[in-house]
Amino acid sequence: MYRLQRLKLQSLLLLWWTAITSAYRPLPSAALDKLTSLSVNERLLVNGSFLAPLLVPRVAGTENNVKVRNFIKDRFEKLNWKVEEDKFVDDTPLGQKEFSNIIVTKNPQYASRLVLAAHYDSKYYEHFEFIGATDSSVPCAILLDVAATLDQYLDTARVKSGLQFIFFDGEEAFVEWSDDDSIYGAKHLAEKWEKQVVPTGKYHTSKQSSMLDTIEVMVLLDLLGASNAKVYNLFRSTSWLFEHMGDLEHRLVTTGNWRHDGDEFDEPDMIFDTQGVDMFHGQIQDDHIPFLIRGVNVFHIIPTPFPRVWHSIHDNADAVDATVVQNLAVLFRCFTAEYLELDVLGHQEL
Ligand SMILES: [Zn+2]
Repeated sequence: MYRLQRLKLQSLLLLWWTAITSAYRPLPSAALDKLTSLSVNERLLVNGSFLAPLLVPRVAGTENNVKVRNFIKDRFEKLNWKVEEDKFVDDTPLGQKEFSNIIVTKNPQYASRLVLAAHYDSKYYEHFEFIGATDSSVPCAILLDVAATLDQYLDTARVKSGLQFIFFDGEEAFVEWSDDDSIYGAKHLAEKWEKQVVPTGKYHTSKQSSMLDTIEVMVLLDLLGASNAKVYNLFRSTSWLFEHMGDLEHRLVTTGNWRHDGDEFDEPDMIFDTQGVDMFHGQIQDDHIPFLIRGVNVFHIIPTPFPRVWHSIHDNADAVDATVVQNLAVLFRCFTAEYLELDVLGHQEL
């Protein structure tokens, strides 16, 4: 009996979930054109105002890390977002270090939110200066660009959910990747938010929610910005978003909103592979893990295999493909606009 009721409940939940996911409305091509036109080319160039300040070594606990943190905070303070730091001290193989995640939120009054995340620290190497352009300067710069371009549409009452960005500190291991020496910031924040009870919003049926329950989905960007990246679907719970991203990429190509370097007859360089099978399924360790194991829906956007320059001296400005970065910026801008159902064409029924 119990089992039968459970089954019934599960099928009801499935129906409800299908109803929600199929309600994802693609923006008309005029809206995609409008969103693409918001690109300011200069910002995401390697010497540009959003990316250049991030292309420096920024190991957790160093002065440069604080400088980069202040740069990121400053961008969001200028936009009037709610800016918070999650500061803490943790033991590492190189002694105690200070860490600070940056959490910025637009429309914090909403009962639930879309989260986009990337890590802003860089890996420590004793014998050379590691920049980590793809790991993860470019993802952080793309998030700054999403905020700068969409902010004007986020004040309306028609926005579907809140929007939050998390810039994790201490993703990288100081010595060698292990459970203890890695993702310091993500572990700290997931544990903290699991215990943090928030007032129940009108869409919540349970009596209490934690800060983790109010995340609709966490989209984690990592190792992006180099050429020839292929991203595969890594989690069944967010397959629908992955499919949607692949579809959006195709729509950007067919509407002429996708740049490509080659000859016009060449196939454009697509990033999301909706046909291929990923070999690394469930094996990639990253900032999503502490959230995933606590039941948060994760959409992990990381190329497999990793870029050739990964964790080498070559992961610097030279590894950045400007066309790929511009395309990714447009893609994440349009993805966020579609997810939040933003009215980019000005009070028209979409
Ligand atoms: Zn790394």
